[in-house]
Amino acid sequence: MTEVSVAKDAAPAADGLVVLKNVNKHFGALHVLQDIDLTVARGEVVVVIGPSGSGKSTLCRTINRLETIDSGDIAIDGRPLPQEGRELARLRADVGMVFQSFNLFAHKTVLENVMLGQVKVRKADKKAAEEKARALLDRVGVGTQADKYPAQLSGGQQQRVAIARALAMDPKVMLFDEPTSALDPEMINEVLEVMQQLARDGMTMVVVTHEMGFARSAANRVVFMADGKIVEQATPDQFFSNPRSDRAKDFLSKIL
Ligand code: ADP
Ligand code: MG
Repeated sequence: MTEVSVAKDAAPAADGLVVLKNVNKHFGALHVLQDIDLTVARGEVVVVIGPSGSGKSTLCRTINRLETIDSGDIAIDGRPLPQEGRELARLRADVGMVFQSFNLFAHKTVLENVMLGQVKVRKADKKAAEEKARALLDRVGVGTQADKYPAQLSGGQQQRVAIARALAMDPKVMLFDEPTSALDPEMINEVLEVMQQLARDGMTMVVVTHEMGFARSAANRVVFMADGKIVEQATPDQFFSNPRSDRAKDFLSKIL
C-alpha cells in the first residue's frame, strides 16, 4: 500500500487549485472567518481540524459559495468564484461536497442519485450517466445496492453513495465536512477507506474530520483552526508530534 507522499513544506505551491486570500466572514457580530489565507495545491490532501465552532464548516461552505464572504478572494483553478449566475453553477460543479448528513434524495434509487447531476448539470446522456454511475458505485463498494432506496442502506453505504454522487460530476476538488461523524463506529472505516483510495488516486481534497488516524495517514498538510483563524499548519508528523501553538496543544491533549 503506497501512502500519499508528504509535502516537503507546509507552505503550499503558488499554483493552487483552491486559493483563499484574506477571506473574512461575519455572522452578525461573530467574526467567523478571520483573514483566512489557504492554498490547496493540485493533488493535495488538506485535513482541517479544530474545536467545535471554530469555523471549519463555514470555511468549507465558502469554497463553493454555499456561504458568501464579506471580503477577500476565492479562486478555483485560477478562476475567481463569482457571486452568482451560470459561471457560479459551473465552478460549483467543480467542487464536490460530502456532508455529515448524507443528503441523498430519499425518493430516488441509489443509481438515480448518482445519475441525476450528470444528466441535469453536466448534460450527459442517460446511458453514459448510468454506466458511469454503476462504475462509481462499484468503485466505492456498493455496486450491488444500485436499485435500492437510500433508506434501505446502512449509514456507511449511504455515505459511500454520496461520495460516488459527488465524483460523478468530475470535480476538481472534493470537500468533506465531517463525513463520518454521523456514522456508527463500525461503519467509519469503510468510508475512510474510500477516502484513502481517492487520496491515493490523486484527488485534491479538503477534509474536516476528527479522525486523527486518517489525518496522519492521508493528509499532506494539517490545518488547525480555532476561533475563526488558521492558527497553525504543518505536515501531520510535525503537527501531531510537535504542535507549536497552545491552542493546538490543548486541543490535541483532549482528543488523543
Ligand atoms: P465548526 O464547523 O468548526 O464547528 P462552524 O463553521 O459550523 O464551526 O461555525 C462557526 C461559528 O459560526 C459557530 O459559532 C456557529 O454557531 C456560527 N454559525 C455557523 N453557521 C451560522 C449561521 N448560519 N448563522 C449564524 N451563526 C452561524
Ligand atoms: Mg462543522
